[in-house]
Amino acid sequence: MAIPHSNGPCGRVAILGAGPAGMAAALSIAQAGHDVVVYERYREARPAGNILNLWPPPLKALRALGVDINDFGSPTDTEFRSISGRVRVDVKQDPQTKRSYGGGFIGLLRPELYERMLAAIPSGTIRFNQHVTRIEQDDHAVTLHFPDGTTAQHDLLVGADGIDSLVRRTLWGDAPRREHRLHIFGGFTFSDVAGTEPNKSVLTHGRTVQGSWTSIRHKGRDGFQWWVLTATDPDAPAPADLKAAATALAEGFLAPLPGLIAQTEPDNVQHWVLRDRPRLKQWSKGRATLVGDAAHPTSPYAAYGAGMSIEDGYFLGRALRGVDLTDLTAVQRCLQSYEDPRKPHTARQVQQAWILGKVFHHAPAPLRPIRDFIFDHTSLLQKVVGDNNYREINKQLALIED
Ligand SMILES: Cc1cc2nc3c(=O)[nH]c(=O)nc-3n(C[C@H](O)[C@H](O)[C@H](O)COP(=O)(O)OP(=O)(O)OC[C@H]3O[C@@H](n4cnc5c(N)ncnc54)[C@H](O)[C@@H]3O)c2cc1C
Repeated sequence: MAIPHSNGPCGRVAILGAGPAGMAAALSIAQAGHDVVVYERYREARPAGNILNLWPPPLKALRALGVDINDFGSPTDTEFRSISGRVRVDVKQDPQTKRSYGGGFIGLLRPELYERMLAAIPSGTIRFNQHVTRIEQDDHAVTLHFPDGTTAQHDLLVGADGIDSLVRRTLWGDAPRREHRLHIFGGFTFSDVAGTEPNKSVLTHGRTVQGSWTSIRHKGRDGFQWWVLTATDPDAPAPADLKAAATALAEGFLAPLPGLIAQTEPDNVQHWVLRDRPRLKQWSKGRATLVGDAAHPTSPYAAYGAGMSIEDGYFLGRALRGVDLTDLTAVQRCLQSYEDPRKPHTARQVQQAWILGKVFHHAPAPLRPIRDFIFDHTSLLQKVVGDNNYREINKQLALIED
């Protein structure tokens, strides 16, 4: 797909990493009229995981970036339920947003996101098998170093290199991962399973286990993805039989969850340990900035890390429109104007995921019945996660061009 370029001074931009953040940044920065090269260490843009939900703002950003979002994912209405089926939260949606996107929390499989984004990126933009091992910058350029001793110079560096970002480390030093002490098993199936409903997401919390499912649409096929999540020792080895471990965790959950797991091919079950990193006060330094998990490592509990990565890439490109990248002062000004509005939004999502993980999975045993009584008989949870979500969504939507 051709990307409309804006007229303006053209600079040389390097992006490290071809995940959702790097691909979105590549599209948006190219639209701003700059020359972009993405350096990816692997031989392909490799989706880290299978299951995925996106909120409407990343979809709107993808469309503005020239990505085909027709028939992409299954829009859903989302509920939180107790293990006995009591609805605790109805995640409110703005009627206009629902008309435009069909619903929130759009269920899909990650490979299709990658395929669609890659289809929009001109060939040759991403250079594969390019592991950047060191970076340095001065007032005039950023230099990337590769294992074979070669180097590349650019006017601007965008670190889209994920939770273990080299760029973040180089700019701001190392900081330990924050272990959520949780792990998640996730999978998907296209089989018919009793108890499923189309266009629905149901997040169910037992005393210590979350068992959830959402409808998905993947390359024209309707199906369902599911996940089960509970506390763990982050250093413990992954169970040998992931499907059996997921099945055991889903015991006691209502249909369709056990049936969805039973119908999932063992190869389609994956396992991850949940972690993030402490918040950075500042993302950009000199001629370098961060997007996606490199800027705000986000636990899967938020179900918004890829979405925010796409938004970051979109907003960074918009901030770089018309900027002379040889002018360090202009670069610094525009990088600051990119990151300042992104920080509160992304920090809120990261922190909410951390807190919800603590409340649902690490509450001391005597407090769990009290917690569940409050969630079942008061509107507290509805107020915290159900009533205000659409405001945050609308705020992001309003910032993205039609
Ligand atoms: C189980 C699970 C479920 C999730 N569910 C959701 C969800 O429902 N919704 C949602 O929005 N998000 C979800 N997420 C979070 C989401 O996957 C991440 O937040 C997202 O992938 C971050 O994108 P990114 O581009 O910043 O980083 P990454 O996807 O990590 O990509 C980084 C890229 O940089 C490359 N790279 C790294 N270092 C170098 C180097 N030195 N040189 C060259 N290349 C390098 C890597 O190879 C990689 O391709 C989930 C995550 C998991 C694990």
